[in-house]
Amino acid sequence: MIITNKHNVPETLMTLATRDYYSKGASQYSVTELMSPPRIRRLREKYDEKVTQDVSDMLWQLLGSALHVVMERGITDGYIMEERLFITVDDVTISGQIDLQKETPDGFEIIDYKFTSAWAVMQDKVEWEQQLNVYKWLVESTTHRKVSKLRICALVRDFSRHEKKEGYPTAPVHMVDIPMWTHEKATEYIMERLSLHREAKVNADWNEELPLCSDEERWQRETVYAVKREGRKTAIKLFKSIEEANELAIKEKGYVETRKGEAIRCTANFCGVAEWCDQYQRELANSPSGDANAE
Ligand code: SF4
Repeated sequence: MIITNKHNVPETLMTLATRDYYSKGASQYSVTELMSPPRIRRLREKYDEKVTQDVSDMLWQLLGSALHVVMERGITDGYIMEERLFITVDDVTISGQIDLQKETPDGFEIIDYKFTSAWAVMQDKVEWEQQLNVYKWLVESTTHRKVSKLRICALVRDFSRHEKKEGYPTAPVHMVDIPMWTHEKATEYIMERLSLHREAKVNADWNEELPLCSDEERWQRETVYAVKREGRKTAIKLFKSIEEANELAIKEKGYVETRKGEAIRCTANFCGVAEWCDQYQRELANSPSGDANAE
């Protein structure tokens, strides 16, 4: 990957950005790679020398790396920090680095740090559940420690003390309990992911034969209809159905604004390979305006 410095930020940030804090050692897959969509992984491998990212767009990634450096200074009794575990399944080596394991009388609590938004904390984040359950499986399979709890330590970057919405984090550092899977369920999930990635590897040269990214993997946002009124900045209410929105707009003597849904991982190129991805490029080409999200 080529890292650029378009905004002339200090070189020290470039050094941090180019250093690989998440080295997967001798493994073929890290846990996050295993969880990632096979299409993205294959295209990133294939176009590695062309994928470009500016250091200024890597702020949260950089802070994540900085956190790992800081953590090395926080050694505390009763905690295992940053343990990297390896396991070989069906001739494939998988590795995962676990931020924290806290020893308790009931077993070990696995804790993963995330720089994230308040919105994310308020959702059921399926990828957090998958990641932490793969870590649990890894710990149980390799160390035979009993895992008693899974938690995300969310560092809420946009926290506001004035926000009173239900489910809103109570502090800028917020602990989120994650549901635990059985060992069998995790094994099934891992085997399924491995087979998806293997299949994608066989077809790596034929973009059109790579498995399609799902709506969930593309971070598809639904189209919503905002009921608004002249002179008011924020919407009165958001609807998924245009009929309901129209009904309220008539009552409120307002109007309806359509906020088009989009697959933001593709449109904002968060995957980094949108320009080489035939799934997304076909959508663009088939859309009359050239906007894949036009209705
Ligand atoms: S552009 Fe969209 S569909 Fe293509 S690899 Fe990226 S996320 Fe997946």
